[in-house]
Amino acid sequence: MKFQVLVLGTNAALPLKGKITSAQILNADDNLYLLDCGEGTQMKIEQYRIKRNRIKAVFISHLHGDHCYGLPGLLTSLSHHHRKTPLHIFGPAGIRSFVEVVLECSNAYLGFEIHIHETDTTQHSKIYEDQHIEVFTIPLLHRVPTCGYLIRQRIRGRNLKEDAIREYHLTIPQIKQAKKGEDIQTATGIIPNAQLTKEPQKPRSYAYCTDTVYHPEMIPLIKDVDVLYHETTYLDDLESEAAARMHSTISQAARIAAAANAGRLLAGHFSGRYADVRVFEHAGKALFANILAAEEGLVVDI
Ligand SMILES: [Zn+2]
Ligand SMILES: [Zn+2]
Repeated sequence: MKFQVLVLGTNAALPLKGKITSAQILNADDNLYLLDCGEGTQMKIEQYRIKRNRIKAVFISHLHGDHCYGLPGLLTSLSHHHRKTPLHIFGPAGIRSFVEVVLECSNAYLGFEIHIHETDTTQHSKIYEDQHIEVFTIPLLHRVPTCGYLIRQRIRGRNLKEDAIREYHLTIPQIKQAKKGEDIQTATGIIPNAQLTKEPQKPRSYAYCTDTVYHPEMIPLIKDVDVLYHETTYLDDLESEAAARMHSTISQAARIAAAANAGRLLAGHFSGRYADVRVFEHAGKALFANILAAEEGLVVDI
């Protein structure tokens, strides 16, 4: 089952040299979810040929412009693309008036419903679920109310042993029964479920944590996460600047990843002063080996 993230943008503060600010697409079995929507997001959606009408929900971390200024434009474009299905939008208090005021000032009409949900950024709680994923808020510490999002895959039913399904010529209703863990009655006898299915894979998880100052309180909330995206606006020599602006350095992000026993650290939200963001991988390696700089267009299987 597909569970992957596509990085659309990772610049901190402002678009530079063709690169945009924060936005990512999480793909769960071709169901798409947008994480943050910095200015230019819809251009990247176009560039990477993302099926925009498959976006089921948008999760905004906070209301700094580099995380949400692309949202009103995306909404009106979705309408131009004949979207009819409702869209859920999650974000801290203020997201509702931000979206509604812009649409109202522009006298914009949307051909689909939007459902805006204001999240409590001080709580770790489940805010969304569908057949494919469940999403929990992760309280973060930044200059304005901010939360990260923990997205966990939902695995339904047991995994089929394809060979056995073919061997016994099971019908579709029998396959559904088998996925539920039931034994199957056939004309010649009972087939034990263990011959047809195996344990489902462990649900995979992704934590999207931006923007935040070093905040170890998040560690128990993201324990054993498969991939952690953590902001690393600066290298370590600018630690005091990071603290003053309530951002993190690469070593701070690596320390969080190690303490949370994350499978991989995806570092991002880079200050525009770094021409080559690979420096973040080298700088963080000593504290956490499996580290990847989140460059635009990168796809990470979770
Ligand atoms: Zn930011
Ligand atoms: Zn910010």
